[in-house]
Amino acid sequence: MQYRNMMKAVLLPAGLAMSFSAQAVGPEWGYDEQASWVSVLDDTVQGSMPFPYPYATCGLGAKQSPLNLTTQKDFSDIPRVASQNSLKFAYSKIPVNVENNGHTIKVNTPVGGDNSLSIGQDRYTLLQYHFHAPSEHQLLGRSYALEVHFVHGTQDGKMAVVGVFFKPGKYNPGLQAVLDNAPVTVGGATVQADKTLNPSDLLPAKHTEFFTYAGSLTTPPCTEGVNWYLLKKPVEASVEQINQFKAFYSGNARVPQLANGRQVILH
Ligand SMILES: [Zn+2]
Repeated sequence: MQYRNMMKAVLLPAGLAMSFSAQAVGPEWGYDEQASWVSVLDDTVQGSMPFPYPYATCGLGAKQSPLNLTTQKDFSDIPRVASQNSLKFAYSKIPVNVENNGHTIKVNTPVGGDNSLSIGQDRYTLLQYHFHAPSEHQLLGRSYALEVHFVHGTQDGKMAVVGVFFKPGKYNPGLQAVLDNAPVTVGGATVQADKTLNPSDLLPAKHTEFFTYAGSLTTPPCTEGVNWYLLKKPVEASVEQINQFKAFYSGNARVPQLANGRQVILH
């Protein structure tokens, strides 16, 4: 998942702004050097800073994302739990605000927006969503064509990211609406108050089955404490649409990380 801009304090619930804003500005990074994110030096910091490696967690953290979710076709390597807490999406139309931030295409939700995800007693606000090609999470060691990440936060600083996989197939109008508004220029944004996008257009009709585990941001600073929910049922997009996204970003995916004893659960 993407970190930059999720961090714009104005878009964040108070708790998230508190816990993440200190890290909002950091040195540049790229997908070609992901093994060395751990040792990226923050050379903007002078002598007094005790910790000049702002992305150290990317290499030292034991609960990093993404993961290869299963090694077995029948998912026999992961426990299956009857879902007590289903994912309740309350997504609706938002004004167009699509950004090309140099790492992905990202849709920003409006300040004070009421798009939310409820899981049990927790209600998370949708902060932004963005795309990776190929998918970051894998099944059987294989990637999907694309993965969208819906990034949510709560007032008290909990984070939940929902991932949806894309496979080649039918034309996807919801994806096309994003692509049509994606700025070609890095750093550009398309903001149109009189036009809308609907994040629910990117959800599969059925989302009762999902994988969950405890992980991290998949981009520097790789902050841990992120609850992941990967929908088992992929959505489809045409090969042309997948290629259209890849013309913006191809290979903006972190490689799977070590599970280090963490358990993926299938609900
Ligand atoms: Zn992401």
